[in-house]
Amino acid sequence: MKHQLAKHHKLLVIFICTTLCVFFTQIAIAQNNHNLRTPGKQNVQLIVNSDFVVTMDEAQPVIQNGAVAITDGKIVAIDTQDKIRTSYRAKRTLPGEGMVLMPGLVNGHSHSAMVLFRGLADDLALEDWLQNYIFPAEGKFVDKNFVRIGEQLACWEMIRGGTTTFVDMYFEPEVAAKVVEECGLRAIIAPSSIDFPSPGFQGWDDAFASAINFLKRWKGKSDRIIPAIAAHAPYTVSPEHLTQAIRAARHYDVPLTIHLAETQTEVKDIQQRYNATPVQHLENLGFLDPRVFAAHVVWPNESEIDLMAKRGVGVIHNPDSNLKLASGFAPIPAMLKAGVKVGLGTDGAASNNVLDMWKAIRLTALIHKGTTLDPTAVPAKTVLRMATLGGAQALGLADKIGAIKTGLQADLIQVHLQEPHLLPLYDVISHLVYAADAKDVDTVIVNGKVLMHKREMLTVDINNIRREVVSIGEKIQADFRHSN
Ligand SMILES: [Zn+2]
Repeated sequence: MKHQLAKHHKLLVIFICTTLCVFFTQIAIAQNNHNLRTPGKQNVQLIVNSDFVVTMDEAQPVIQNGAVAITDGKIVAIDTQDKIRTSYRAKRTLPGEGMVLMPGLVNGHSHSAMVLFRGLADDLALEDWLQNYIFPAEGKFVDKNFVRIGEQLACWEMIRGGTTTFVDMYFEPEVAAKVVEECGLRAIIAPSSIDFPSPGFQGWDDAFASAINFLKRWKGKSDRIIPAIAAHAPYTVSPEHLTQAIRAARHYDVPLTIHLAETQTEVKDIQQRYNATPVQHLENLGFLDPRVFAAHVVWPNESEIDLMAKRGVGVIHNPDSNLKLASGFAPIPAMLKAGVKVGLGTDGAASNNVLDMWKAIRLTALIHKGTTLDPTAVPAKTVLRMATLGGAQALGLADKIGAIKTGLQADLIQVHLQEPHLLPLYDVISHLVYAADAKDVDTVIVNGKVLMHKREMLTVDINNIRREVVSIGEKIQADFRHSN
């Protein structure tokens, strides 16, 4: 009886094993058949489709019915939608009917938190505006809380308009960096050092020491935050301190930015003080090299333009600010011809009054035709390049951003081309430069992360920011009414 039972058990075990074996073999065959149906499909996190993909890559400038595959924050592949669909399987796919996909805009010069001074003092000359309005207002109001609220407002505005990388030359860099980290944008954060008292500092020495501490803390810490050095301008920073700034930038291997040759007054002033024009003055100090990018450069002479091309200095053109402060027209066609790396910027909102790169794009395409009396000057394609890849090159970031290319960071925007001012469509580049505006930006992606989709903000609490901005604005206005 015992023997018979054991035999029975044995048969049962054999039966179960055989059944399981057949079951798992069938699963394996089914899996294999599935793999055969989708040979070599690679898993990616995100695929973005669009009717047009404007790449800024000379090898394949515009792809119709294109798509981009993204994983770990980087562009893995770019091709037609059919080919991407055949080769990649994504967790999420963004549709692209009526859309153009392009690199995110690069705002090469801003003082972000100054959005809180937007519209406070208009229609004044630069020196009057700075000395009698902006510097006193900054002395009174700029602190950690001001920069936190201002930076949040600026990031909200820039994401809305498709800016994915910006340069912030201002104060309280730790606070600014934290806001940028949270909202998901990419930024070069360059705390501004100047020879006279500024918010939180007595003068150059303590401002510069603090800036160095900031860059030591942040260098290499984040994918999206690049610490840098900023010397305000040749007329507000002594030769000795300018030399200190470039030495530190080389020592710590970080970018260095400065306002340069912005007005004729500055040119006269530097000429009187140092017997040299502003760009030549910096050359005499050994200041010029490829890590330097200068804002404005409205009044360089021919030899200074050649010098900037030779030294690899980047120039950030800020047409709105230069017009509003009546600084003049930067000789952009001559700079481009000489091979200077030129990007675009908005400057601070107090001299613009918006952080809107589309307005800067359109102005750039128009004003240089007017000043040169040449309708072929600075064509649409060149301007769009300045707002993306050109800016990335001027900032020394072209190995990371500025184009849609395999291996670069996935900083992309989708622009919706269905509004009346964008119909009909013959030339997508023409529409992006002459007809589109910030409100046409539909989706914003930085480092592969979606920050805005269908114009819904996904990383910033807009109601809270609006409330805090209104409240601080009331305090600033009350104080201005009181003192004026
Ligand atoms: Zn500026």
